[in-house]
This record gives sequence, structure tokens and C-alpha cells, in this order.
Amino acid sequence: MSKFKTIRVRFAPSPTGYLHVGGLRTALYNFLFARKHGGVFILRIEDTDRTRYVNDAVDNLIETLRWAGLDYDEGPEKGGTLGPYVQSQRLEIYKQHVDRLLNTRTAYRCFCTPDRLEMMRKEQEARHISPKYDRNCLSLSQQEIQENARKGIPCVVRMKIPDSLTIRFHDVIRDDVEFSSEMLDDQVLMKSDGYPTYHLANVVDDHLMQISHVIRGEEWLSSTPKHVLLYQFFGWELPEFAHLPLLLNPDRSKLSKRQGDVAVEDYRAKGYLKEALVNFVAMLGWNPGTEQEYFSLEELIQQFSLERVNKAGAIFNIEKLNWLNAEHLRRKPDEELLRMLKEALAQSNFKNAKHDDEYLLKVIFAMRERVSFVNDFIEKGSYFFEPPNEYDQEVVRKRWKAETPSQLKQLAEEFSKLTSPTKQDYEAALQNTADVFHVGNGTLIHAVRLAVSGVGGGPGVYDILFILGKDESLKRMHTAIERLT
Ligand code: GLU
Repeated sequence: MSKFKTIRVRFAPSPTGYLHVGGLRTALYNFLFARKHGGVFILRIEDTDRTRYVNDAVDNLIETLRWAGLDYDEGPEKGGTLGPYVQSQRLEIYKQHVDRLLNTRTAYRCFCTPDRLEMMRKEQEARHISPKYDRNCLSLSQQEIQENARKGIPCVVRMKIPDSLTIRFHDVIRDDVEFSSEMLDDQVLMKSDGYPTYHLANVVDDHLMQISHVIRGEEWLSSTPKHVLLYQFFGWELPEFAHLPLLLNPDRSKLSKRQGDVAVEDYRAKGYLKEALVNFVAMLGWNPGTEQEYFSLEELIQQFSLERVNKAGAIFNIEKLNWLNAEHLRRKPDEELLRMLKEALAQSNFKNAKHDDEYLLKVIFAMRERVSFVNDFIEKGSYFFEPPNEYDQEVVRKRWKAETPSQLKQLAEEFSKLTSPTKQDYEAALQNTADVFHVGNGTLIHAVRLAVSGVGGGPGVYDILFILGKDESLKRMHTAIERLT
């Protein structure tokens, strides 16, 4: 499928803060592509824009990738033969490469002051032409350049974009793409502080790290013609490109913080499972060509292909994520749910409640089909951890009649005769009591449910009674009789 013998892909974030869900998707697609083809997945930190650098962002990134299960084969902390994998540690390499371009005159030094550039920009704006460097420094003589350097005038290095050239490249997702060189600015490659810009560092590293496929977000598509030219200037072979579709809010605007969370860590803090988030993010722009929506990471690796990534923007639908979270949660083995429930309990108001594993496993069994998040076990099933503080007033109005107290008293009487009752024992006792009062068993079921749980819904009432146990159930029934009469 490719001219490259080994598939080598990279995720190349800039450490400017948290990992965006769009970044997670880029990382994931690179990871899936590498794993599927037995390739190598590289993490490279693109930290050459010192003005946007955020402390701890690299640690945070690495930790978030680790949480999501996207382990990389080469990168910071891992090492690898083609490192270092942090761009600020590669400045000498970029300098050598910029010199190569200067020598072949595909790049030139520019001494224009920020003031001059600003005036130029304003003037172009007034004339309604798109801002572009006017090449004032392109014609400087060798002597002038040396003179300026001697005076210590700060300079940048710009690439010399060829005139009237159509730049063509192939994109796995977008097919053939064309840009006219007339649209391109003489891009700064090296800043006056000796740091390369994104474009230079990115291309040099992709080449030196032997990247076979550049898989990244669509927002970088307009940079690609400059990169293609740089590959040509250096005489290097192009990698394959694949530009992933934009992520959109449901109103089709660009996915933004204003309409919801965009940081992976926010979803993590809200209790989303990594499996669900990864599954969800995988479907943002890719589809398997079938109706399947639930995927394990293993299944994603098997089925993923760049050819099935769409061009059209992908809508971020939080309901789908919630649904996937419930699906992934339900399919977790009991022991894992138990561990997660214990962790959640330790962080909750019920941290002092003592329940053994057997009790918690029963709660899990009863609630599994009713929860989307681990915390739902605690929030929707709070009555498993403490007696109801209050009773749902709407249910009281509907289900608590004048005759209910005497019926419940009788039912409590029946329950108290049972020894180590099973669910069936509760059921038989309730049926007998209903018969005595000539009412349907539903009448008593609703009343006893309200009494022991305080709410009108939930797992089967015999399950609840069985889990709470006879003594606790009786206690709650008596309390309700007292408080609701
Ligand atoms: N450093 C760029 C970013 O922050 C990388 C873009 C690319 O993958 O080329 O996304």
C-alpha cells in the first residue's frame, strides 16, 4: 500500500495545555494505523513556540495518553534510535538544515523590523490584498547581509516560495490536492531567537524520524504545500498525507469550549470510561462500513483503515458518548465494576458505610442495566447505602393511600416470620398479604418499594428487599409508616 517498508507514524502535539479531544482522535488514528500494520507509533513534542509553552503540559499529555491506553513505541521517556523526540532538544539539527537551504538559496535572511512588517501589513490590508511578505530582503547582497549581521541586527530565515507554481500532493482522505504557490507567503522557517518554526521543524523531523504517513487534523492542510516545497528543497521523498476531518458542534460550528468540554481530562474527571471515549472518538470521522458501533480497542485495531475516514466534518454528539459509556460499563467484568464502585464510594458521602464485597456485587448485579456511569450506582441506588431521607412526593401522592399503613404493617408482620428469606420468600409473603386485603400485588409492591427506597423506580422490589436484608427492610417499612401517615 505504501512505498515505505516500515509504517512509522507520529503524534506531534504542541504542549500548550490540555489534550483536546481532537488531539486524542489524531493520536488514536495514528496508534490504530500503526498497530494494524505492525508499524511504529511515535510521540514527538513540538515545543518550539516558546510563547505558547505551558508548564506541565508534556507530563499531562503523556499521562492522558497512558490513561487512554495509547502507548507509543518511541518518544520522550521511552527513547528510540531517532531521538531526541522533543524539538527544543534538536535546535542544532534545525540550524544545520536551515544552512542547507540558505546555501541552495531556497531560503533567505530577513532583517525587517517588526515595525516595518506591521506597516506593510496595514498597507496591504488597506488595499484589500492578502498579507504577504513583500520580499524586501530577498535582494540583499552578501555584503549587506554580513554588514547587518555584524551590527547584530536580528534576523529570521524565510523560505523562498517559487513563483507561479502549482503544488500538488496526494492525500489518502482527500485524493489529489492542489495549491497555487501564489497563495503562499515566504514563510519564516527560523526565528531570530534561533528556534525553528513549526513548518521547518515538522518537516525535518518527519524526514529524519522516517515517518511514512503524516496523519493529522485538517487545520494543517493549508500548511502542507509549504511542507511539500521543503521536501523538494531538501531533495527528500514525500510521506503519505492524511488530513482528518474537523470536529464540529451539533450546530456544525467548529468544536469549541463554549458548547461543552473539549479537554480529555474533563471527560475523565466526569467519570467517562477510557474505552467509551476511545470508541466514541474513533467514530468521529471514521466508520467501519457496517452498523457496528460498539468497539473494543482490539476491534478498532483490526477494522481501522484510513480509506474509511470521511472528508466531511464529524459532529460531536454527547448523547452517543453517554450511550457508549453505558455499553462499555455494562460489559465490564464484575470484579472490575466492584473495584470501580469501591473507588467511587470512597470518594462519596457514603465513604464510611461498611459493605462487604458480596453486598456490593449484589448491588452491581441489580443495577447493571440501569447505569451509564459508575457514580449512577451510588446516585440512582443511594438507598442501598443509606435509608431514604425523604420520599418522592409524586410517588407518595400516587401510591400512598389511607389504607397503605395497615397493609404495610401486615406485610411487615409476614416478612418478620421469615428466616433468611430468599426473593421468592418475599414474593410469596407479599402475595399472601395482597390476597388477605383483596388487592392486586402491585398495590403492595409500589408501597413497599417507596418505603424501602424512597423512590418509584429501580430494580425489582424483591431484589431490593433481598439485598437490604430482612432487618433493614423491616426497619425502613416501619419508618415509612410512621413518617408518611
Ligand atoms: N504540532 C502540531 C500540533 O500541535 C502538529 C501538527 C502535525 O501533526 O503536523 O498539532
